[in-house]
Amino acid sequence: MSKITRRDFLKIAGAASAAGVLGQAPLAHAARHMGSGSARVVVVGGGFGGATCAKYLRRLDPGIAVTLVEPSTKFITCPFSNLVLGGLRDMNSITQSYDALKKKHGVNVMHDTVTAIDAAAKKVTLKSGKTLSYDRLVVSPGIDFKYDTIEGYSEKATQVMPHAWKAGPQTVLLQKQLKAMKDGGTVVIAPPGNPFRCPPGPYERAGMIAHYLKEHKPKSKVLILDAKDAFSKQGLFLDGWKKVYGDMIEWVPGAKGGMVKAVDTKKMIVDTALDKHKAAVVNLIPPQTAGKIALTSGLADDKGWCPVDPRTFESKMHPGIHVIGDSSIAGALPKSGFAASSEAKMCAAAIVATLKGETPAENSLVNTCYSLIAPKYGISVAGVYKVTEKGITEVPGAGGVSPKEAPDSFRENEAKYTVGWYQSITADIWG
Ligand SMILES: Cc1cc2nc3c(=O)[nH]c(=O)nc-3n(C[C@H](O)[C@H](O)[C@H](O)COP(=O)(O)OP(=O)(O)OC[C@H]3O[C@@H](n4cnc5c(N)ncnc54)[C@H](O)[C@@H]3O)c2cc1C
Repeated sequence: MSKITRRDFLKIAGAASAAGVLGQAPLAHAARHMGSGSARVVVVGGGFGGATCAKYLRRLDPGIAVTLVEPSTKFITCPFSNLVLGGLRDMNSITQSYDALKKKHGVNVMHDTVTAIDAAAKKVTLKSGKTLSYDRLVVSPGIDFKYDTIEGYSEKATQVMPHAWKAGPQTVLLQKQLKAMKDGGTVVIAPPGNPFRCPPGPYERAGMIAHYLKEHKPKSKVLILDAKDAFSKQGLFLDGWKKVYGDMIEWVPGAKGGMVKAVDTKKMIVDTALDKHKAAVVNLIPPQTAGKIALTSGLADDKGWCPVDPRTFESKMHPGIHVIGDSSIAGALPKSGFAASSEAKMCAAAIVATLKGETPAENSLVNTCYSLIAPKYGISVAGVYKVTEKGITEVPGAGGVSPKEAPDSFRENEAKYTVGWYQSITADIWG
């Protein structure tokens, strides 16, 4: 009989149910024992963190009036946007609707933008001019970019050298450029230093772009000019690239000339301290900060990320406001959609307890990140996290990465789990 290891269990749990920090049974149990009251919670941002939090607040206590403010009427997920570039998916298949949140879960979804937060008056102002009062505010606005750290780059330059680090028109633009380039050209991917959204994302992207090029433009090359000297799941990526794509993908670490200093968008040149590279397509992923609204409302520190209490995700800058997802400083947890959703559930439970005058319970958090190297070649990293006196730390021995040596069937199964992961997490959040 085969033995189920702790790592196997984690992966099954991650793929089968993205319930993450809280299982369904405890949630239902909690809801039955809660008074409804008439508390108002406003959630800023309907992505992985915000949409999860809005839904789980309502599930935990249907008496809470939850308003979710999100400008877009549909949410396009960054997860699987690399698969669009590889030609494995279309944009439609990574687009989520807010209908279930509105109709099934009773969340008041307002398609608007929060332009100001008044922490003292417990009020937010919207672009439309409306104001909303809250008892608790949850802020999950994702990331924004530090364009000016690279000479010659700017928000305008993203129309020539897209970052595609927020899925949507930028993904479509990058895909168009890949389709238009001639065979034999170089695609430069320039990932930033840490911390940034989705640590394995640029390397999954390299594999997906190589997959597209191998099929359609086999004389072309992917050149990764990295600001870092090491990256997530590095050994697995390097081995997988070699095995599937031969020499098509080259990775240059920061210390060996990978750090991009400047770009020339007219000549399509990427300049590092050591070399100037002429490219057919440039995917420049700039350094990042918390989402703009977190910065302008004084929720971020001088590095541009938001310090929070690790037990409740309540801001250390403004009491009564919780910051979750990529914008928050969540200790050892990576900036991933799974982590954002796990944080959101912990935050929702903490808010419900606080509104009832109770002490939030201790919980653990989970993260699993799958990456595709090729359609039938998947790899993963999984971790369990708990709050200690050092903040959010990884539980030793509870997670891990895919084995270095594994048969093709193992990689193929991980590619299948990748699809299962996407289906379960998106159903859990927007379903
Ligand atoms: C290429 C790529 C691949 C990825 N793959 C994976 C993966 O496989 N697995 C994984 O777990 N993670 C993955 N991620 C990471 C994941 O997308 C993010 O970590 C996750 O989206 C973070 O959730 P969030 O709620 O912080 O931000 P988001 O999901 O970006 O949501 C933020 C929302 O806030 C809204 N907003 C911003 N400002 C305001 C405002 N002022 N008022 C109202 N609304 C506002 C935005 O419109 C947006 O909808 C990937 C990322 C990239 C770029």
